[in-house]
Amino acid sequence: MNKSLLLLCQEAKVEPLGLMHLAAVSEDEGWDTTIKPVDFNEGFYSEDVASDIIGFSLYTGIHKRAYQWMGRLREIGRRVIVGGPHASYFPKECAEHADVVVVGRGQEPLRQILSGNMKSKIICGNNTEPLSIPSRKGFYANYPDYKASPIKSMMASLGCPYKCSYCYNSMKRIFPHRSRDVGDLLVELEQLENLSQETQLIYFQDDVFGMDLTWLQEFAERWSFPYHAQTRIEFLDPQKESARKRIALLKKSGCTGLTVAIETANETVRKDVLGRTMTNEAFFRAFDWLSMRNFKVRTEQMLGLPTPDPLETDLDTLKMNVELRRETGLPTMAWASVFVPYKGTEIWRYCKEHGYYNGENDDAPASFFEKSVLNFSDDCKDRMKWLADNFHLLALIPNGHKVARQAVYNDMKDLASLTKYHLYDSELYGVKK
Ligand code: SF4
Repeated sequence: MNKSLLLLCQEAKVEPLGLMHLAAVSEDEGWDTTIKPVDFNEGFYSEDVASDIIGFSLYTGIHKRAYQWMGRLREIGRRVIVGGPHASYFPKECAEHADVVVVGRGQEPLRQILSGNMKSKIICGNNTEPLSIPSRKGFYANYPDYKASPIKSMMASLGCPYKCSYCYNSMKRIFPHRSRDVGDLLVELEQLENLSQETQLIYFQDDVFGMDLTWLQEFAERWSFPYHAQTRIEFLDPQKESARKRIALLKKSGCTGLTVAIETANETVRKDVLGRTMTNEAFFRAFDWLSMRNFKVRTEQMLGLPTPDPLETDLDTLKMNVELRRETGLPTMAWASVFVPYKGTEIWRYCKEHGYYNGENDDAPASFFEKSVLNFSDDCKDRMKWLADNFHLLALIPNGHKVARQAVYNDMKDLASLTKYHLYDSELYGVKK
């Protein structure tokens, strides 16, 4: 009988792509492998604990609850391994709760673990090994909703060369940037289409898609399936010839839309606090160019940044999205999260030095949409959370930042009625009150 491996991750709408890449490795080694998304915030469950090895994929925010699960499993004699971003950046802490910790890419360490040939309790991944084609069949059989989803995830490259202050990359670069072989991506797509005819769009989960123009040229010649990808605005600024060429290649290869992070409209905060040097003008130029070529765009922003007047900073960011949309027709959608200062990052130190935060991330939430953990007043946190929850709607309303300002500083619950009267008075009749 084959040995068995159970891989656990926090449940999410997006399929657990990283674990499917690892499942390909363990199945290749002859292990029966099951991927199970769970809610670590729920009570511990006892089914499936007969597996020979139980692996956890951890990110900061679920780590505390997951440690409790690991402890219970080890008490009953299970062998526990852990990987993922939190384990990669805090391996010693994780080693107190698991039998083996994987730092970085998991393929080679997993092979060592399954064959019992590990040389230490903390194993570092091999960054040069090509990524295996993910094993999706078993997971889709157990979770048909993921199979039926029209949007599937893939990775065309790993890692990122930048060092934004709020990202673990500012602490240490564990994942160097590497593009995958285009032929491997085509094999993966073919397998995916055979498994799930429902697939209509690929979401490339890369941190920075299409950075390497030579790679993108080959990709554009061989790939034609519709996709959405994440990148940085520097690569889309039409002032640069390389960006104009990149956008043409993105279009040719089937890219229907792009996600880019604004993070904040305040250029000084963006540069000095977040470590991102792009200008606001670059967003206007790029969106104009993309709009004329029928791309969809999603923007991302973090609300509740460590600034003296965080609500005003957030309202300015909303205003920038509204103005971008008015002048260029984009973004199609504006996504907002609430900022969390992850331990060890540059901005975590900044927050501590400037009195915005004194925690060690025991309070880090499991999602990006919870109330701020910074030292703001409770009232400010409530208003910020309301703004984050409604940001995508407000960005679609003409002059939606004015509605937001009224709501944030008055009755936050009355968005529908505020919007109605705003549309009548300010937009339809053009009168001022
Ligand atoms: S671009 Fe994204 S992945 Fe790269 S350092 Fe910045 S936040 Fe991290």
